[in-house]
Amino acid sequence: MSKSSQFSASRRRFLKQAGVAVAGSLSGRRTLALADGDHAAQRRVVTNRAPLAQNAFYLLPLGSVTPSGWLRDQLQIQADGLGGHLDETWADVGPNNGWLGGTGESWERGPYFVDGLLPLAYLLDDARLKAKAQRFIDWTLEHQTPSGMIGPTTNDDWWPRMVMLKALAQYEEATGDPRVVPVLSRYFAYQLQALPGRPLRDWGKFRWQDNALVGIWLYNRTGDPKLIELVKLLHSQGHDWQKQYADFRFTEPVTAEAIKLNEAGGLGDLALSTHGVNNGQALKAAPVWYVVTGSEEDRRGMGEMLAALDRYHGLPNGMFSCDEHFAGRNPSQGSELCTVVETMFSLEQSLAILGEAALGDRLEKLAFNALQGAFTDDMWAHQYNQEPNQVEVSLHRKPWTTDGPESNLYGLEPNFGCCTANFHQGWPKFAASLWMASGDDGLVAAAYSPCEVQTQVRGVAVGIREETEYPFRGTVRMKIDAASPVAFPLRFRIPAWASGASIRINGKEMQRPEAGAFLKLERTWKTGDVVEFEFPMRARIVRGFNGSVSIERGPLVFSFPVGEDWVKLRDRGMTADWQVFPSSQWNYALAIDESSIASAATKESPLGKRPFARQDTAVSLELQARKLSTWRAMDGVADPVPQSPVSSDEPPERITLIPYAAAKLRVTSFPVLKG
Ligand SMILES: [Zn+2]
Repeated sequence: MSKSSQFSASRRRFLKQAGVAVAGSLSGRRTLALADGDHAAQRRVVTNRAPLAQNAFYLLPLGSVTPSGWLRDQLQIQADGLGGHLDETWADVGPNNGWLGGTGESWERGPYFVDGLLPLAYLLDDARLKAKAQRFIDWTLEHQTPSGMIGPTTNDDWWPRMVMLKALAQYEEATGDPRVVPVLSRYFAYQLQALPGRPLRDWGKFRWQDNALVGIWLYNRTGDPKLIELVKLLHSQGHDWQKQYADFRFTEPVTAEAIKLNEAGGLGDLALSTHGVNNGQALKAAPVWYVVTGSEEDRRGMGEMLAALDRYHGLPNGMFSCDEHFAGRNPSQGSELCTVVETMFSLEQSLAILGEAALGDRLEKLAFNALQGAFTDDMWAHQYNQEPNQVEVSLHRKPWTTDGPESNLYGLEPNFGCCTANFHQGWPKFAASLWMASGDDGLVAAAYSPCEVQTQVRGVAVGIREETEYPFRGTVRMKIDAASPVAFPLRFRIPAWASGASIRINGKEMQRPEAGAFLKLERTWKTGDVVEFEFPMRARIVRGFNGSVSIERGPLVFSFPVGEDWVKLRDRGMTADWQVFPSSQWNYALAIDESSIASAATKESPLGKRPFARQDTAVSLELQARKLSTWRAMDGVADPVPQSPVSSDEPPERITLIPYAAAKLRVTSFPVLKG
């Protein structure tokens, strides 16, 4: 079947089922009724119930967005790699896992795995993966104790349960399984009465907002006021992230001594408040709390937090350094993969609550660069810590603030197995968040990638097919299919870098949209309507550490690809641990400034089946450079990029940069030659 006839067939099936869906009011709250081509379950976008503040946007239930094009290829790579096979080769999430009733790992790893495996399974509509996820879900739903507690009985830690709550909510949205809401209701009732005597501690105390998020999710479905009480109690027992950032003291790379890592088992407040993953998760703390309070101060909290992280710990791949505590802006420092995927999840949730275009820009930057940069092309191995200037991948303790010598390897569980269990949520949740509903009953293109969205808008079944090779190309084409003509606002994120973007509706050129904002098009939409964007893909300079520059084009960050010599360290079941040694020079300074970058030679090649593989790179840039012999590496770590401007007597060369994620050894921050 051709792509377009597949689309028509799934649309027909969807429209047929949507005919029985009912939109409208349910116990006083506003809902948008949804149906799904493949499930009898009727799904709704559930909006915030009074007295909660309204979101700008609402995430669509899992299953509404279907990946296509390169994004589907990427999700399939994950499914064919560790994503779909981890339980077969890593006992921690295998049949003896505690969340399957076994005596093995009974803490966070089972819930982490299912929190990403489940959306991967439903996005790919893959029966094998759905069955794997279902075992964890069924065991959890069927083994609630009479008190309301869920999970393995060998521990009563609130934290791992917070992760399973997120997985259960996604599962309910995808399937409508009627067991989920009662189990969550009993669990939260139990938590409300137990928390005063057994308050949040360590991880749970610093991650309270993830628990609160699902409390709000359930409140919007049941209206039980006790759930608001619970969310307020979680907030009062949890770490005050907004206070930490109102007076931000961690402006330098931390040391183990400074954060007293040898005290309290490494779980003291100083250690946990400077911990990368905690901060990535905490980016949603202020937005989640804003939903409860409606206060402008809480609305601004996330922006203040992001600004401080960028200012003191920001890296050119869009991340902040955390190896695994705050490490400053030197691009030879690392970021933990758990922090990448948790920051992405925070951005997805916060973009929905706040409706700020910049959060979508950041989300894309992480997905298209830092996320895939931490994996081998086949997604059978990952890094714990990735570096923007990563000139060797090997066993070394430098330069990490607190991490161990394996952190930089590509492998099964380098340094520690948290990322092995937790990485799965990155790509699937990104795919599921591409489209959102708006608070005024419209649709929102929150981030761009090839996909289809099927939903109901104002009682009418609407599908939009998004055809694009974005982020490698600038053209994005949206084809609309509606059961009947329907008036609603359609919003499109215009990235901040996309000034001069053009838009055509049914071939007619429209006024150029403002960059860095959502463009709202309110009209009667009908089948056959086509909205087409041309985002200008011009190379540009971003200034960073020590006056260095990094190069971006659209949402992609570009790196110099150092020659790679892959050496297997050891086999690890179905996969292996790898070191990568440089087989070329890497120490270049660029002859570039803001005006000359615009004329950098760009080469586009056909997009391959592995969108971020070095061999298949779909776009590259050519720039003028000279070697800088004084810039060296020590023990496999590039010295901090020298203060710019720099001088070099070496001959001029043309060097080629490729997308960050395609270069597993790379230089991303360059010194700049004197003009
Ligand atoms: Zn981790």
